Amino acid sequence: MNLFLPRYILQFRFSSPHSTLLTNYSHTTIAINKKRRFSTLSLSISPKAELLVVVGGGAAGIYGAIRAKTIAPNLNVVVVEKGKPLSKVKISGGGRCNVTNGHCPDNMIMADHYPRGYRELKGAFFNTHGPVDTMSWFCDHGVELKTEDDGRVFPVSNSSSSVIDCLMSEVRRTGVVMQTGKVVTTASTAGGKFILKIEKRTIDYVESIEADYLFIASGSSQQGYALATQLGHSIVDPVPSLFTFKIDDTKLTELSGVGPMLVTHWGLSGPVILRLSAWGARYLSNSDYKGILQVDFTPDLHIEHMKSVLIQHKNQFAKLKMLNSYPLELGLVKRFWKYLLDREGIDGDILWASVSNNSIMSIASLLKQCPFKVKGKGVFKDEFVTAGGVPLSEISLKTMESKLQPRLFFAGEVLNIDGVTGGFNFQNAWSGGHIAGTSIGSLATCNTPMEMIV
Ligand SMILES: Cc1cc2nc3c(=O)[nH]c(=O)nc-3n(C[C@H](O)[C@H](O)[C@H](O)COP(=O)(O)OP(=O)(O)OC[C@H]3O[C@@H](n4cnc5c(N)ncnc54)[C@H](O)[C@@H]3O)c2cc1C
Repeated sequence: MNLFLPRYILQFRFSSPHSTLLTNYSHTTIAINKKRRFSTLSLSISPKAELLVVVGGGAAGIYGAIRAKTIAPNLNVVVVEKGKPLSKVKISGGGRCNVTNGHCPDNMIMADHYPRGYRELKGAFFNTHGPVDTMSWFCDHGVELKTEDDGRVFPVSNSSSSVIDCLMSEVRRTGVVMQTGKVVTTASTAGGKFILKIEKRTIDYVESIEADYLFIASGSSQQGYALATQLGHSIVDPVPSLFTFKIDDTKLTELSGVGPMLVTHWGLSGPVILRLSAWGARYLSNSDYKGILQVDFTPDLHIEHMKSVLIQHKNQFAKLKMLNSYPLELGLVKRFWKYLLDREGIDGDILWASVSNNSIMSIASLLKQCPFKVKGKGVFKDEFVTAGGVPLSEISLKTMESKLQPRLFFAGEVLNIDGVTGGFNFQNAWSGGHIAGTSIGSLATCNTPMEMIV
């Protein structure tokens, strides 16, 4: 049930090893102590060509890996993924995967949807590979997409599996090597190469790899942040974004229903709340998610206008009970009107004629500045991202290359970029992955030995 008006203004006031195995890969040697343990990686890569290791088989990592391998087919591209590839794509958008947003063709408008990144993303980022490019890519690779009225883009199949199947089939077609169930635990540099330690959690297993390019697309994982710091980067403290509010008001939570602001049995949710949580993520974290949320339910009506609407209604419907009659221009549903009357201690059975002008003023004030006590962060998990990560000042958004470490690239949620709901978080992953893949592929093409170019 849509309880309120479609538009609100909300404000928040804050209350305050041992290793059993070691493999060394370089251009010329692959030393294997116990072959059986890592045959997949060692045997899948050509020792003559350069090696790109991608940390993380999520949206950014896989999209970037495919792009790099497409541009530089001779480059060895290995994606190391600690769990299952594309696991977040699988559960995203309630299993439908909100791939991107189709209502933002302009990169300036697009950037405004990123509480972290809105300034920096106004540059070349989305111009290089924006929502339209992403939609074309998926379309060209066999995934039919549809744009819903609010701009969210989904596969026509309404299943995230279409997106996963498409990406994994491109992984296979281009020859990207997937290494799943393995974690990149440490990273350092020596002789212009990245020395990576890769471990398998389930068994006592460690291997060491030398890579020419490293692309960290590890999402919000602590291990990914640790790799970035080992290579000289700083990390903006990660905090949750896109969450709901637990509200201390039993009467409100009894009103559960659906709308742009959704009342649930524990508090408030819906697109407007998620947007507020994203823009206020850092302040809310600092206040331990406690404070007063103030909602303007009628932002298009000035308080004085609101009072006169209510007074007019009183004069016109003097003989009707307050609960049964209220100004339609307020756009409220009856249950919420009752809630307001209860909050003001007004008996709904009294006639409009009997209500004092003071009570009318109080109702008007409540509609314009309705305070709710927020007692914590909710557990809504339809979409959830992390604010924080590698600062954008430390990478070039034109190439996604680190400004501190040549041949090191980042994309996706590992960076201090996060968007509001609506497909913006995946778009960050596709755009960053594409740019990083293009940069790595181009560098690798320049470095390909002549004898390998057929
Ligand atoms: C429930 C849910 C629903 C969502 N729905 C949407 C949606 O519909 N639309 C949208 O735009 N956004 C959505 N998001 C946000 C979106 O999923 C993320 O923004 C996006 O997945 C980020 O992509 P990524 O590749 O940067 O990171 P991830 O998808 O998190 O991928 C990173 C990968 O790296 C792996 N990894 C990390 N560290 C290591 C390591 N050291 N070694 C090996 N592997 C490692 C992880 O296992 C993970 O698979 C949703 C998020 C959640 C939680």
